[in-house]
Amino acid sequence: MKAEIIAIGSELLTPDRMDTNSLYLTEKLNSIGIDLNSKSVVGDDESSLEQMLRHALNRVDLVIATGGLGPTEDDITKKVFARVFKMPLVLEEQILRKIEERFRSRGLTMTSNNARQALVPSGAQVLENEAGTAPGFWLQMENQHALLLPGPPHEMQAMFERQCFDRLKSMSKGVRICKRIFKLTGMTESACDARIAPIYTLYKNPVTTILASPGEIEIHLKATANDESEANSLLDELGEKIEMELGDNIFARRGESLEQVVGMYLTMRQATVSVAESCTGGLVAERLTRVSGSSAYFLSGAVCYSNEAKTELADVPPLLIQMNGAVSREVAVGLAEGIRKRSQTTYGIGVTGIAGPTGGTPEKPVGLVHLALSSELQVDHREVRLPGDRRRIRWWASQIALDMLRRRLL
Ligand code: AMP
Ligand code: MG
Repeated sequence: MKAEIIAIGSELLTPDRMDTNSLYLTEKLNSIGIDLNSKSVVGDDESSLEQMLRHALNRVDLVIATGGLGPTEDDITKKVFARVFKMPLVLEEQILRKIEERFRSRGLTMTSNNARQALVPSGAQVLENEAGTAPGFWLQMENQHALLLPGPPHEMQAMFERQCFDRLKSMSKGVRICKRIFKLTGMTESACDARIAPIYTLYKNPVTTILASPGEIEIHLKATANDESEANSLLDELGEKIEMELGDNIFARRGESLEQVVGMYLTMRQATVSVAESCTGGLVAERLTRVSGSSAYFLSGAVCYSNEAKTELADVPPLLIQMNGAVSREVAVGLAEGIRKRSQTTYGIGVTGIAGPTGGTPEKPVGLVHLALSSELQVDHREVRLPGDRRRIRWWASQIALDMLRRRLL
């Protein structure tokens, strides 16, 4: 079974508001084996909506609309769907009385536009709105279904969960969609794809999607089957082949974040870590401490922005900074060693670089970052040149720092 979602509301076509309802709905639909054919956003305009709806009904048997169910002039959803589904609007006395009662109980007079909310496409199932005023509707025309849900996310979610989900689940005939998310770092998207495309292109099910962001690649596998265990065995089969090919570059097999994985390894090894950061300004420490329970392994983080702070907080000798410059292999190593000894941790991380956009020189351009990982027996160092703006460079540097630690812990 395939579905389309139409998000209705002129505000969704401005930079001020985003359609998030479709994300929630997509997750719910996928979990019961209903795939999305496409989704769209349309303003409060009758003819645009009608066009879109007619297109959707040419392609799928389930259309879910959110928004535009309120009492105001621009709320056109019900009118358009009633016309297309040939279910003329009729005044439902029972609903009208409920609305009147609600106003009376609050000591308010009902304006006539509120009566519009009592208009129901004839033959439609009314979906009660427990969290607001506008009711929703389930329309059916032969084998085609339309769900009209309110726009406010909490109203929409309550209505969908309690009054739509189970019925859709039984309609989707037990088909299940399961997903697996692999995450990797230390590889470019094209290098990754060159290695695994020969494998995943042999499979139509699971479907493979590759998503790249700075310093991280996600491989999403989506399997469709008659039940969960069948879907999972399809995921296992392709997943194992991908893992064999990419090996240690993969850091997560179930969508975990890099800091979660690093935390897990540190806990397993009963090891601890401290960090001394310059250009990342505390981002590595912030990420490590996002994980609940990180106090078991994260002991301290110092933001050593000035030269003096590098000496004061991480014991980097002033002469070393003078001779090599603050952004250098020597200073990165000094930060890592210094903070490790001071904090008495198993590992120390040092990061120093030029995040830009100012401060670059021909010898030391924006994006140059030195990273070091120190333990009692070994110091690793990496020098990288990262592309992008300040935010991206800082994020990417934190990613490399965490990954250096992950690889050491493997
Ligand atoms: P409406 O049903 O058109 O009266 O929607 C009322 C409010 O719900 C809007 O002002 C939005 O803030 C919110 N809303 C409507 N559609 C969406 C959507 N697709 N995603 C998230 N919020 C929405
Ligand atoms: Mg609206």
